[in-house]
Amino acid sequence: MKLGRHFTVFGSAIFCVVVFSLYLMLDHLQLDHINNPSNGERFENGQLGILQDKIDHLERLLAENNKIIANIRDSVINLRPSVKDGRGFLEAGNESQVLVVPSAPLIVPIDLEDCQFSSQTYSKPEATELLHYFFDNPDGGVWKQGFDISYEENEWDDEPLQVIVVPHSHNDPGWLKTFDDYYRDQTQHILNNMVVKLHEDKRRKMIWSEISYFSKWWDNIDHQKKDAVKKLIERGQLEIATGGWVMPDEANTHYFALIDQLLEGHQWLERNLGVKPRTGWAVDPFGHSPTQAYLLKQAGLSNMLIQRVHYSVKKHFASQKTLEFFWRQNWDQQSSTDILCHMMPFYSYDVPHTCGPDPKICCQFDFKRLPGGRISCPWRVPPQAITDDNVQQRALMLLDQYRKKSKLYRTKVVLVPLGDDFRYTEAQEWDQQFNNYQKLFDYMNSHPELHVQAQFGTISDYFEILRKNVGMDKVGMSVGLSPFPVLSGDFFTYADRDDHYWSGYFTSRPFYKQLDRTLESHLRAAEILYSLAFASVQKFGKPNNYPAAENYKLLTAARRNLGLFQHHDAITGTGKDWVVVDYGTRLFHSILNLKRVIVSSAHWLVLDDKQTYTYDPANPLLQIDEVQPAQDALPRKTMVAFLRALVVYNPSEQTRTSVISIYVTTPHVHVLTAHGQLVNAQISAVWEDVTSVPPLGLAVYQLCKGAEPQSELAHYMFLKAGGDVSVTGTEHFRVSVPQEAVPVSMENPHLQLSISYTTGLLEVKQPTNSQLIKNHCVCCKHAYSHPSLSLSHTTRDIIKEETDLLLLSAAPFRGHHSGSSTLKLKEDGSKHSIKVEFLCYGTTSKKDKSGAYLFLPDGEAMKCSPSQPAVIRVTKGPVFSEVTTTFTHVTHTLRLYNIHGVNGQAVEISNSIDIRGEFNREIAMRITSDLNSKDRFFTDLNGFQVQPRRSMTKLPLQANFYPMTSMAYLEDSGRRLTLLTAQSLGATSLRSGQLEVIMDRRLNQDDNRGLGQGVLDNKITANSFRLLLELFNSRENTAPFSYPSLLSHISYMYLNHPFMPIVTSLDSTVLALAPYSPLSSPFPCDIHLVNLRTIQSQKEEGGPSEQAALILHRKGFDCSISTKNTGLLCRTTGGKVMLTKNGQFLSSLL
Ligand SMILES: [Zn+2]
Repeated sequence: MKLGRHFTVFGSAIFCVVVFSLYLMLDHLQLDHINNPSNGERFENGQLGILQDKIDHLERLLAENNKIIANIRDSVINLRPSVKDGRGFLEAGNESQVLVVPSAPLIVPIDLEDCQFSSQTYSKPEATELLHYFFDNPDGGVWKQGFDISYEENEWDDEPLQVIVVPHSHNDPGWLKTFDDYYRDQTQHILNNMVVKLHEDKRRKMIWSEISYFSKWWDNIDHQKKDAVKKLIERGQLEIATGGWVMPDEANTHYFALIDQLLEGHQWLERNLGVKPRTGWAVDPFGHSPTQAYLLKQAGLSNMLIQRVHYSVKKHFASQKTLEFFWRQNWDQQSSTDILCHMMPFYSYDVPHTCGPDPKICCQFDFKRLPGGRISCPWRVPPQAITDDNVQQRALMLLDQYRKKSKLYRTKVVLVPLGDDFRYTEAQEWDQQFNNYQKLFDYMNSHPELHVQAQFGTISDYFEILRKNVGMDKVGMSVGLSPFPVLSGDFFTYADRDDHYWSGYFTSRPFYKQLDRTLESHLRAAEILYSLAFASVQKFGKPNNYPAAENYKLLTAARRNLGLFQHHDAITGTGKDWVVVDYGTRLFHSILNLKRVIVSSAHWLVLDDKQTYTYDPANPLLQIDEVQPAQDALPRKTMVAFLRALVVYNPSEQTRTSVISIYVTTPHVHVLTAHGQLVNAQISAVWEDVTSVPPLGLAVYQLCKGAEPQSELAHYMFLKAGGDVSVTGTEHFRVSVPQEAVPVSMENPHLQLSISYTTGLLEVKQPTNSQLIKNHCVCCKHAYSHPSLSLSHTTRDIIKEETDLLLLSAAPFRGHHSGSSTLKLKEDGSKHSIKVEFLCYGTTSKKDKSGAYLFLPDGEAMKCSPSQPAVIRVTKGPVFSEVTTTFTHVTHTLRLYNIHGVNGQAVEISNSIDIRGEFNREIAMRITSDLNSKDRFFTDLNGFQVQPRRSMTKLPLQANFYPMTSMAYLEDSGRRLTLLTAQSLGATSLRSGQLEVIMDRRLNQDDNRGLGQGVLDNKITANSFRLLLELFNSRENTAPFSYPSLLSHISYMYLNHPFMPIVTSLDSTVLALAPYSPLSSPFPCDIHLVNLRTIQSQKEEGGPSEQAALILHRKGFDCSISTKNTGLLCRTTGGKVMLTKNGQFLSSLL
């Protein structure tokens, strides 16, 4: 396989790192290997050797870079004792207390140059964020949200006004109807008519942007029609704008999916039409992100258009004539990311709001609304068909609007979109619009005293004329004397009128926002494994049984379903109930199919003798141990009865230690590496569904034959204030049920959490039983005969599975001393106060209420009404400990991994939310800390970059919510508290030290944005987070931009791309499997392998080609955060990745 096509995204905004390797764990069930002492010795020597090498390496780096970090030498001194400790610990044999990542340097080697990026200061262009200070809402006259526009008659005497009218039809790939229903009822007719009607007159133009629809139509038309379409494109009558699979949402989407859907659309266009889009067209996404601007620029586009921006921002831009600007990325010091952007000035993209400031006038030029038609003008003045008698009067009336609109811009070229949702469905509508407008244009153009030149055009025609008008070349940027300003920042949060902020959709239908992320991680994992397997298959040659073509079909379908879901009414949660089910079913089937790709590819790669490869989808050798029963249900783990071998896929480009969970039928299990070494493991109980608080059922699956227990069992403690808990079926586990609330602490090498529980109905109690704390200390004792050296520690444990919930009351965690729980960082012994609580928002009593789009709360969040006290379950084990609190709507779990390394640095938070019993409620998780963050906080954009935010009390509460796609954080002079998320949700910080996330929303009514229904199809939704507290080395925080730390990037990747445990089917023990590792070394810490995507061949049937797109992302990171003791095993390399045969990457491909 050749790495032919490089679609490389070198940004410099944000996060993550990982390499992928396959680790194979064979469960031999023969104890000989473990008992063989020579094994252990080799093991120790091996580790020491690695340690020594690493220290040598580190010291070499230190010599080279001793001016990098002032305290690095101190750390080396620290390193020595810890090495000694390590030896002592190994000699001690079975007294291991934590899972140790071998040879992690105390300080990650970072080149000074790599730090310069985030610490640079430069003069930044005007930030769009500041514009919210201009918020006001006076009546602007005919342009309600604007102002009166006037002009002098002679303004165009020297240079005529050029009017470009751009016909468009906005085709949502699903909203009130499903994608297929819209296609059948409207879209196919629009496209069919387009071919006929554009051919009737060469002056007619049209733009199209959704390739999902276009490709479906293409598959259904004959060659003659295809040729006719190609001719229209050649003649410039039809332009494909943007060319993505959909017009994506820009708030909830992750950049992985944004790139993927753009690539899918552009690849389709290249293959079928041979065109490359030049201009972006986004009239409907609910707020705009600079990430999309960046991706369009990288994909070769020079211009773009946006529409839904806060009305007061539009007004301010209009008054400054900055509605056309170069959009530059926050981090860009020069102009390499600049893209020319046109912002539409008025309320909507329909005809009444595009010809000029007065919708009453403009509506009269929407000839679909002629009397007798199905739609009319709400301003009660109907359009008139253009005749010889009225043409003069009508043309002058329209020209007045064109002139006024042009006064909001800096040039004498004015853009006038002409269309609406699903327009131009019937032939008659084409005639009505095009014939009437042509008469108006003809009149205007034939009267030189009007000084106007009006015509139909495509969106690129407009930009071309605009650029020519100001003396810029066709694609050039802001070089020279461009009259356009440069802006940085984003356009969230959108409001279209009054206090109607569109911050509800940041959370609406969170179940599917989560499912989207699951599909993304499966797609990425499958793409990479497929590309590797396909390369290996080609080397192996024929005949082979690997299903290359079939898998590629599954991949293509999954790409397209993921792409479809990025649509601005899909991932946003703003479609009709049945449309949501249609999307959900597509995501669900794609996940199932991708699992087939993953297991069949993994099977090929781990097989010693490729000749023996067989492909039998009905009875695969490997199976992922997780099953999602339906599109709207949470996945469940399957039982692994007689486990023989476990294949673990690490989809990250980093060597990594993580915990995986496997359901087994017996506590008498242990895990061995492929080399026969014992892996640390913990046996936990699977908690069965319970239907009410007492009794809380507890079931343990029956044991099957196996060895004596070698893995440690977890201990349990149940707490409940004001009631009894009965626990049964726990003969294998130690369970205690103290009769009063007691404090609990969890501890790992990095953190110590002191948690005190109360229900909110009772006063917080002082610790009463110190004995209990001791008994349940996580680090009490565990015995392993061999600490593992595998780079992929694997545990076979049983995690809780609990679906029923108790009533939500109040703060689940209240400190017994300070009123909140304490988090202690072991690095410096510092203590920090952090409290988690769940609160509820209602909806306003005013006429307009919260719905799928809008968040219109009735004030600040309140405690949800308590009814039953929470039940708390404390799990203590050698691999992880956790506290699960069950309320009415929320099951909340805090987990601490007992790992020295990345996974031990953060507290894992899992919430299972069930809001189905409520009405007009939104549940929020609020984290209150003692950080002095004031009104500043930070949220990411599309997982790609971080945007500083300021919470403003002068704005309505809902205006302060922003999309959180991957993380949000707070900081003060010494610390940063980061919440990493595995799904997009709305987030804010309303007070200093507080971070708040909306978990789910259930709303009875429509919010008058066309959807016509409330949000009442809620599901039980599982959300996961990680909470990370980091210390600054030194801090001067005034920069208008911010970057996560390296640890934060990598923790995020761990959270979003978990290990994939794959088990072999029962009777496959005779096969010889071998670990597979395509990389000779991990990637640098700051380089993320976004994707390795096999390109589709040019052939009709669309199978795989020999080319693959390698997409890399270099992440900006904050060097002022301590990298001490993070457990990171990588370094940075100045952005260099070796792609040679001997380099880091994919020697198997080159
Ligand atoms: Zn739309």
